[in-house]
Amino acid sequence: MLGAAVTLIGFCILAHWWFPMPGIDSRQPGAPSDPTAVSLLTPGAPPEAVGPHFIAESEPALMRLLWPHGSPPAAIVSSPVRHRGADFDVTIRFAQPLGDTPLSLWPHSLVVQSGEVRTLARNDPAGVEWTATIAPQGRRSVDVGLVRRVPCHALASYCSAPLTAATVPGPPVAARVVEPPTHHTAQASIEFLLELSEPVWAGLQELRDRAFQVANGRVSGIDRVDGRHDLFRVTVQAEPGADVAVAFSPRSGCAADERSCAPELSRIVDEFEFSIPAARLYLTFDDGPHPEFTPRVLDVLARYDARATFFVVGSSAAAHPELIDRIVREGHTLANHTWNHDSLAGIEEDEFFDTLASTQELLGEDATACMRPPYYSMDEHTESRAAQMGLKVVMGEIRPRDWTSPGALEIANRIVGGAAHGRVVILHDGGGERSQTIEGLELALAYLQPFRYVYEPVCQS
Ligand SMILES: [Zn+2]
Repeated sequence: MLGAAVTLIGFCILAHWWFPMPGIDSRQPGAPSDPTAVSLLTPGAPPEAVGPHFIAESEPALMRLLWPHGSPPAAIVSSPVRHRGADFDVTIRFAQPLGDTPLSLWPHSLVVQSGEVRTLARNDPAGVEWTATIAPQGRRSVDVGLVRRVPCHALASYCSAPLTAATVPGPPVAARVVEPPTHHTAQASIEFLLELSEPVWAGLQELRDRAFQVANGRVSGIDRVDGRHDLFRVTVQAEPGADVAVAFSPRSGCAADERSCAPELSRIVDEFEFSIPAARLYLTFDDGPHPEFTPRVLDVLARYDARATFFVVGSSAAAHPELIDRIVREGHTLANHTWNHDSLAGIEEDEFFDTLASTQELLGEDATACMRPPYYSMDEHTESRAAQMGLKVVMGEIRPRDWTSPGALEIANRIVGGAAHGRVVILHDGGGERSQTIEGLELALAYLQPFRYVYEPVCQS
């Protein structure tokens, strides 16, 4: 029973195995490994005893080593916060003096990954405290561990139980994202490049699982670009229609317990966050509200969970308060298209302020700070006068010219053809017969559905 427990607790050091520390998963089967990264110090020959081994319960010292609640009889009591690519010292303290016993006869062994022991010296005559000078392998983070050798019956080798360990990270590494994506649509996974200021030997799996936290999505893949250790292609799978938030914090988990740090990741000092919004398309409707067409437009928008901005004519809004109420109630916003739809080009300043202010006043707290000039006609004063009133002139990139009645299919084609993240679509829910607009809008929204655009009001109150 106890023998089985020992086998379970003990770890087997084979040619290139490092004892796994709690929380470190970088060397799981299947994770990339680099045999040269492991350097085992073997003071003297390993124990020769191979075969069934059972620890008698009368061996209290060993029991203490293997029993998880026991206190370790040795500890690494000091190690540098970081190494600079040159030799560094660690101090080890034993519970009992080693005297002048050569370390090879002492059942503890120092195991170093990504480095090697240069010297080992006693700090006091009794041999309680020792200093190991360790040469790192280049700039890599170094793991230093003290293990207790135990003859092991299961394998033609020896087993060991970890006593204490420390990670000494290599020199600091900066990180940045190269050209983070501006948006995502549902049809493509998102890719971006993570660039480091120098190579790190972190496993891809630990980079994926430990360094990145993604809201509304997940990291679905991470690869080395051209096999490099300082440039990674990261693929994120986004939840359709949702804004993705990516946080990069490679040292997460280090604060509470240094031993749970991923050694190479702990070298990366930069942390950052960025968001990748779902693609937006901004629908706008001019010249309403209209008692027949505005409700039909609102019905179509509701079917596609779309929110729009209505640039209303003040006099029409005054005539149809129930439509204004419905527009607001259904999550759309209102903007200013003058009181009577007269051209603003060449008009007097008083006239300009009257037509916009009266509309703004009518809309009250539902008014947003946006206006659009009728016929898109402006003069040199239009923008500055609007700005004086706190209004921004909002035009649009997609103009299907639905007011020329080109046919519903043509209107839909023009919307779909121009659709791209961040663009504003100009349509009309008033000022004429708008059945083609309504039909074209429905066709376009149905066609665009798989792209998962988010339809938000361009003007927000
Ligand atoms: Zn208009």
